[in-house]
Amino acid sequence: MGIATSEPYDPQRVSPVGEHAVVLGASVAGLLAARVLADAFERVTILDRDPLDAQLQLQPRRGVPQGQHIHVLMVAGQSVMEELAPGLADDLVAAGANVLDVSREITVHAAGDFIAEGSADLPMYYASRPLIEGLLRARIADHEHIALRPDYQVIDHLADPTGTAVTGVVARSDGEEHRIAAELVVDATGRTSRSTAWREQLGYTTPASESVEVDLAYRSCQLARPPDDRRAILVMPSPPRARGAAVAPIEDDRWLVTVFGMHGDHPPDHLDGLREFAGTLPTPVVADLLEQHEPVTDDVARYRFPASTRRRYDQLEAHPRGLLAVGDAVASFNPIYGQGMSVAALEALALHHTLAEHDDTDLASAFYARTGSIVDDAWNISVGGDFQFAETRGPKPSGTAVVNRYLSRLHRRAHTDAELADAFSRVVVMEQPPRTLFHPRVAWRVLRPSVTAR
Ligand SMILES: Cc1cc2nc3c(=O)[nH]c(=O)nc-3n(C[C@H](O)[C@H](O)[C@H](O)COP(=O)(O)OP(=O)(O)OC[C@H]3O[C@@H](n4cnc5c(N)ncnc54)[C@H](O)[C@@H]3O)c2cc1C
Repeated sequence: MGIATSEPYDPQRVSPVGEHAVVLGASVAGLLAARVLADAFERVTILDRDPLDAQLQLQPRRGVPQGQHIHVLMVAGQSVMEELAPGLADDLVAAGANVLDVSREITVHAAGDFIAEGSADLPMYYASRPLIEGLLRARIADHEHIALRPDYQVIDHLADPTGTAVTGVVARSDGEEHRIAAELVVDATGRTSRSTAWREQLGYTTPASESVEVDLAYRSCQLARPPDDRRAILVMPSPPRARGAAVAPIEDDRWLVTVFGMHGDHPPDHLDGLREFAGTLPTPVVADLLEQHEPVTDDVARYRFPASTRRRYDQLEAHPRGLLAVGDAVASFNPIYGQGMSVAALEALALHHTLAEHDDTDLASAFYARTGSIVDDAWNISVGGDFQFAETRGPKPSGTAVVNRYLSRLHRRAHTDAELADAFSRVVVMEQPPRTLFHPRVAWRVLRPSVTAR
């Protein structure tokens, strides 16, 4: 699934569905889901256990610990966000985000060399995760049908007497328990989601869970950046090297630098160690940057990501009425591929179309049927990439070995072939679906004998 092949947002298509919907979690998936629900429900309430006050708005927060690390906003995520929260792109730029063209302005090192410069017009927004989320939250919370309730910890669900429908949630705030009734509850609480347990309590089948172990660790620091130096860099791991790095020119004239290692090859926790670790990458660009520019503080942020996980709601036939899960609550991907926010955005768009076409009796089945392919595409890219490493453990999508051989050849050819570089970039930023990489025009460029061989 890519944004270029998705049906656009069209609020005119949606008729009233109900009076009140509740969204659990005010991170990216929850905010975007709330916005599309506001076209169909008279009121939408977003509950989050974090304080979300003005001071915290642009700081990393407890509920989103990954916020201290690089968050690349792919083209798909950015364009859906702009459709659902018009003006967000301008807000980001006004707050200091940098917009770079993926084909020409970002240095990408993959499969042994730099990817060639292309000519696809693919704008990518570089900002810190707290800035992206904070500005999105401000736009969404401004909607007349949406109420944001920070400091509400959701602790349980409410169900109807027959046990076939979720009818709201129980949340704790200020030491008090609140029973909040709703016709639809959307769970956007991320990897710690409890809606599988709620399903089980109601007697519904628990979705199968898939987990692909990568034992990844991130370390991030911030450097002072000369305002006119907007370098953005990505060094992908390439077997047997499980190390990589990314550099993002973010707001406040800073670079956010993340170095990472998979399969236990984790970076150290201090700046000197990060410089050394970056020095072992196949290009010195990241190590040089770390040497030549002053750190903003000596802090190094850490994040451990043991495995990508996916709950297979799309394989289930029966769902309780009134309950849906979105975003990381359904699938959480190895973050080095930068997909999570864009998948959440494409799911919000899918929820919009599902609300336009289905009533509440089969909403969940229709939603998971529609979003299954969104998650499949992202999952096959990230998990497929991870299975280049023999140490990766978990269920391997069928055909992975053949696809990986093809993609590895495509990457190598993309070092000198601008057309392949563009085809590759369009899929990575989720503008086009992965199947476009197998189009005969692309396949011919990948598989034809090399000039030297001839
Ligand atoms: C290290 C790292 C780097 C990443 N980099 C990228 C990237 O470059 N690009 C990209 O697109 N994505 C990236 N991601 C993924 C991205 O962060 C998520 O996919 C995105 O935030 C969407 O997640 P979500 O909204 O579903 O859940 P989350 O972001 O996990 O948010 C869950 C929300 O639910 C709230 N919550 C949880 N439990 C409760 C409760 N009981 N009651 C009330 N509220 C609750 C939390 O406070 C939080 O606000 C990265 C992830 C990680 C881990």
